[in-house]
Parts: sequence; C-alpha cells; structure tokens
Amino acid sequence: MKTKKKIIRNREKPLQKYRFYVQAAFALLCLWIGVEMFLFIQYLESGGTASFYNRPPGVDGFLPISSMMSFYLFLTTGELHSAHPAGIFIFFGIVLMSLVVGKSFCSWLCPVGFLSELIGDFGEKIFKKKIKLPKFLDYPLRSLKYLMLGFLFYSVLFLMSSLAVKSFLDSPYNLVSDIKMYYFFADISRFALIVISILFILSIVIRNFWCRYLCPYGALLGILNFLSPTKIKRNPVSCIDCGLCAKACPSFIKVDKVKTVLSDECTSCFNCIDVCPVADTLDLKSVLPVKKKINKRYAAIGIVSTFLIVTGIGMFTGNWDNNISKEEYMIHYKDMNSYGHPTGTEAVKKFNEEANTHLNEESKKKLNQINNNVE
Ligand code: SF4
Ligand code: SF4
Repeated sequence: MKTKKKIIRNREKPLQKYRFYVQAAFALLCLWIGVEMFLFIQYLESGGTASFYNRPPGVDGFLPISSMMSFYLFLTTGELHSAHPAGIFIFFGIVLMSLVVGKSFCSWLCPVGFLSELIGDFGEKIFKKKIKLPKFLDYPLRSLKYLMLGFLFYSVLFLMSSLAVKSFLDSPYNLVSDIKMYYFFADISRFALIVISILFILSIVIRNFWCRYLCPYGALLGILNFLSPTKIKRNPVSCIDCGLCAKACPSFIKVDKVKTVLSDECTSCFNCIDVCPVADTLDLKSVLPVKKKINKRYAAIGIVSTFLIVTGIGMFTGNWDNNISKEEYMIHYKDMNSYGHPTGTEAVKKFNEEANTHLNEESKKKLNQINNNVE
C-alpha cells in the first residue's frame, strides 16, 4: 500500500510586502532625482540668473550605454571617466546584485520593472488571468532584447578601441546626454509619445512586455542569471504538485515541472517560494560552494545591501559627482542642439579616427621631447 507523504505546512512569512516597499522607495528616489534634474535645468534655461541647483549624480543611472562604456573603460584602462562617474558604480551595483541573486535588480529595484508590475496587476484585474503570447511569437520577441544587447556589445568590444570609447565618453554629446534625456521626456515628441502609449497598452495585456521583450539591461542580467551561484530549487519528493508556484510566477516559468529554475526570465522575485504551501519544498539555494538553503529574508537584505554598498563606495571615495562646472554646462547647454546622437558604424569610425589622431599627436609630442633631450 502506498504510504501518504507527511506534509509540513510552509509557515514562513511572504516577502512580497517588503519587496513592494523596496521598489516603491527606489521609485520615489528616482522621482526625486527627476525633480532635482528639473531644478538644475531651470538654472540652465534661465541663462544662469535662477538660483543654481546641483545636477543629481543619480541621473547617471538612467544612462545605461554611457555607464556601460565607462565601466568597460575602467576595466580595460583602470580610468574612472569623470563625465558620469556615478553611472559606473550604479551599473556595477546592478550587475553585482543580479549576479549574487539572479537578475534581482529587475524585481527589487528597477523603477520600470516596478511600473510594469503595477500595470500588469491592473491588466490581470481586467482580464482575470495572465495572458501569455503563444510560443511562436514569444520566442522570437524575447530574442529582440538580446539582439539589441549584442549589437551594443559588438560595437564596443569589436569595433572600438579603448581610446575610441574614451573619445565617445569625452564627446560633448556624452557630457550633456543626461540633459538630452531630460528633454526627451519633458519635451516629448509625438512619435515617442505614441511608442510609449503602445508599450503601456501592451503591458496591460501582456505582463512585463517591455522587460520580457525589449529591455537590453534585462538581457544582460538574464545572461548573468546563469552564472549566479544561487538558484531556486524544488524538492520533487515533498512537492504535492499543486502548481501554485507556476501560477504565481510573473515570468511564466513552469516552476512545478523543474528541479532547478534555470531561466533567463527568472527575476528572483520569490513569488513562487512565498506561495508554496509545503515547507522546505521550494527554496533559494546556493549551488556553490555548498548546496545550502538560503533564508529568503537574508537574500533580500543581501540584494539591497549589495547595491547600497557599491554605490556607497562611489559616494564615500569622492567618485560620485562629476567635475563639470556650471559655467561649462552653460556653454554646452547653448550649443546642445548641434550635438547629434552618435549612431551606426560611421560614428564608431569617427571615434576610432579621433582616438588615432590623439595617439599620433601624443607620439609626436614624445618624439619631440626625446629629440630635444638629445640636443
Ligand atoms: S521562478 Fe519564482 S522567483 Fe523566478 S520569476 Fe518566477 S516566481 Fe519569481
Ligand atoms: S507550489 Fe510548486 S513546488 Fe510547492 S508544492 Fe506546489 S507545485 Fe510543488
């Protein structure tokens, strides 16, 4: 006769309320950065007559390409580029927290992820279910974000030298890219508004549309997810096959069918762990060096503290604010409309040429110095 498994009820308190608080706090911080940016721009718009308000360094976090290139420059040359230094620490904080606990930035801190969740919840209330695209649409669409990331990586890693990357970071366009981004939203074009509205509507119908199909940041963190030493694991012996975990998963992962969640779409939101009714059946576990259950509360504290520690290091080592004076900003602000967005292979070629010219000038200077010394 088949013996009944003894079911021990999962009595661990859910974490979702705290995750919501963390997301909301971070979204408010981002809003505050927006307000500070507004005050800074008021100064520039007034031609320097309004009272000066410092540019918020946190705005660098909204410049992912510049931040990624600055981080690459730091890795290859050891130089912390001074235009958007906070972006380097924010980028590294996001990468590290998502490496420690797979893709956790998306579901714990990202303000767009937070907004997507709220819109998705609203959509679920309307449609009374989570709508998932059929596989023949879902898979090709999911590859879009990887294509965008691949193009960016290819341009930076294979087409540009480190000096060309520096040349881009030194360019006036990069210096004012935060101001340009501000105007993108503050003075939004009809086309951009239509695109954002379409994305908004799609996100009501299909949960996390932007994150799942289009966000290149999500693509990068999704790849890193596979390298994370922590994974969500299911114990098939104690599992009662209720399917609640799969139902709760916002990323449509069939958690109830696998032993280990290995998916680029898992954002470590812990919804599945929270709803599992059986104790010690679905847990976050370390896969290296010892296979051990990790208390989800400690994991949550680790996720947030990793980001705070990395950005804190940037602040306390004096590498948070840039060194661009308000007078310099004023000059660039006046010429800003002539700084076009560098795109395509032509722009890459230009930065490589600029880097080579710079190299030639430096070599000439050194040669002259040697000749002078000989004389
Ligand atoms: S598998 Fe679990 S942790 Fe991962 S996204 Fe789904 S619900 Fe969240
Ligand atoms: S929630 Fe998932 S892991 Fe937990 S018992 Fe049900 S099917 Fe098994």
